Amino acid sequence: HFSKSLGQNFLVDYNIIEKIIRGAGITKDTNVIEVGPGAGSLTQGLSEAAKKVVAVEIDKKLIPILEDTLQGYENIKVINEDILKLDLHQLLKDEFDGGDIKVIGNLPYYITTPIIMKFLEEKVPVESIIIMIQKEVADRMNAKPGNKDYGALSVAVQYYCTTEIITIVPPTVFIPQPKVDSSVIKLNVLKEPKVKVEREDIFFKVVKDAFGKRRKTLLNALSSGDLQFNKDMVREVLKESNVDEKRRGETLSLDEFASIANGFVRRI
Ligand code: SAM
Repeated sequence: HFSKSLGQNFLVDYNIIEKIIRGAGITKDTNVIEVGPGAGSLTQGLSEAAKKVVAVEIDKKLIPILEDTLQGYENIKVINEDILKLDLHQLLKDEFDGGDIKVIGNLPYYITTPIIMKFLEEKVPVESIIIMIQKEVADRMNAKPGNKDYGALSVAVQYYCTTEIITIVPPTVFIPQPKVDSSVIKLNVLKEPKVKVEREDIFFKVVKDAFGKRRKTLLNALSSGDLQFNKDMVREVLKESNVDEKRRGETLSLDEFASIANGFVRRI
């Protein structure tokens, strides 16, 4: 009765549940949005530690199970919805009255990035996002320039957040067991993005182009990607940003990406 397509691996280890709750820094002043409570094992711990928990679960079949496990827990509200379809600003207004808001979830990898990016891009005022995901994806979010895991996802997440890996979790703490290790990663959402960019759309296009052609130099990647800037202009902008045109996207810091993107914005 597990749904593979919904990525349902349920946590069954109380030590890990405690570690997540401690690592997330949840207190009686914290409001929690839990994404994908499943059968509710993490939800119970969250309820005991937090002020209020709003748990959003897409799978209708799990709702009666959740109601059963969560009987007697007064500060929980279960919503049967796809989190991607919810108006999150409205949800915050309707459900919480003051205190920090943290988002927590043990998520299937295919939906993790869209869910995180929804909170970040829509600038939903949450203090942090703590998620358990495939270790490999957490490593990409956490990677620094020059690291083999550093890519467009690292830049997107680190534009909005500082990141910290809380713990690595073996497959044995889940039923059914996934094939790979998972990590719990904490994204501390910044009040303002990490770097100042004139236009976010251009910034993210530059990042996409720079990583799109991994083996190409920046000069080639930025003049042949979606942006289609001519070589002379790319050369000029890179020079102005003090970035050697032979470097590759994998080595660029957020500041360098921002400086390059702002250079293009001034010329278009
Ligand atoms: N949190 C539980 C645990 O740790 O035992 C369940 C984790 S399971 C990996 C992921 C859960 O997310 C499933 O219950 C699944 O139905 C739910 N889910 C998947 N996509 C979702 C979405 N778009 N919105 C809300 N819940 C979703």
